[in-house]
Amino acid sequence: SIILGIESSCDESAAAIYGESGLMAHALHSQVALHADYGGVVPELASRDHIRKLLPLIERVRAEAGNPELTGIAYTRGPGLMGALLVGASVAAGFGMSLDVPVLGVHHMEGHLLSPLLEDEPPAFPYVALLVSGGHTLLVAVEGLGRYRLLGRSVDDAVGEAFDKTAKILDLGYPGGPALAALATSGDPAAHDFPRPMLARPGLDFSFSGLKTAVMLAVKNGERSPQADADIAASFQQAVVDTLVAKCARAIEATGMQRLVVAGGVGANQALRAALIERGARDGFSVSFPRQAFCTDNAAMIALTGYLRRSEFRRGIAGAEAVARWPLDELAPPMAEAPT
Ligand code: ATP
Ligand code: MG
Ligand code: FE
Repeated sequence: SIILGIESSCDESAAAIYGESGLMAHALHSQVALHADYGGVVPELASRDHIRKLLPLIERVRAEAGNPELTGIAYTRGPGLMGALLVGASVAAGFGMSLDVPVLGVHHMEGHLLSPLLEDEPPAFPYVALLVSGGHTLLVAVEGLGRYRLLGRSVDDAVGEAFDKTAKILDLGYPGGPALAALATSGDPAAHDFPRPMLARPGLDFSFSGLKTAVMLAVKNGERSPQADADIAASFQQAVVDTLVAKCARAIEATGMQRLVVAGGVGANQALRAALIERGARDGFSVSFPRQAFCTDNAAMIALTGYLRRSEFRRGIAGAEAVARWPLDELAPPMAEAPT
């Protein structure tokens, strides 16, 4: 099988090709600059830009992969922005019809969840996955393909959202997560004792809105200077990292699993990566990440998910639909692999 993957759930247009030999090509266009002036993603602008960018991206990856004969087209069916998703779904349906190949709509978060499998030494099932992105903060027990048990989630802001909102408070632009992380490297992580939300309580849920409020108060009540801002950034990041590390260790203990996998945009955070590896070494669990480029949205993870679910592809336009909301635990293993 050789699968073309298409991603358009939010503000990244992307295409990739995955086959027996692994990832054959991938390309991406980020809309970050397009939305920067608005301080957030503008759905209508996102949809229109996907229309402009997807076809050239697809042509590029097909050429880069040596124009192989495609056996299926996987696209992100949801969750995400409805208009943006519909562009990808329509492009997938169109290609499916014109090339006479079947199409499959895949789950964006399953893509993130499986993205560490794109690397050279992929983790084996089962594993605990920490999904930390712009819209999600989830701890998931991954027993196998399509067998996902939700262990914990954020009851309010997602981690990436907390990074972005805190960055905004510090005038770092949008989306400010990477800029905040960069600023944190020159700050003192012990300068402020920000709350470690929900650490004292048992359970695996998260909450990040109180932390954001604490940062807001610290900025309001303190002097502004480059060093003061860096100290706030570092202390914020430390509070997030401590919280995530503690809950991951707790999830490993609760499940008895020995592998942790981290995915989603915040998985690109170096402080988080270092702290998780250190805790894993201490507690005896391994930690895997996708490469930085595959932490944030990409089509390689969509092509891979399509490849792993290749028994499910269907012909015809009926397969090309989109859903804005789609809970991860509604997924099931591919039919061919389901226990009989
Ligand atoms: P979802 O997948 O939940 O729909 P999304 O696709 O928008 O959301 P991703 O593209 O996976 O999310 O990740 C983007 C988020 O990751 C943003 O909030 C961004 O600020 C954050 N992020 C990216 N790099 C870093 C970093 N180095 N440190 C902290 N946060 C980061
Ligand atoms: Mg994005
Ligand atoms: Fe995403």
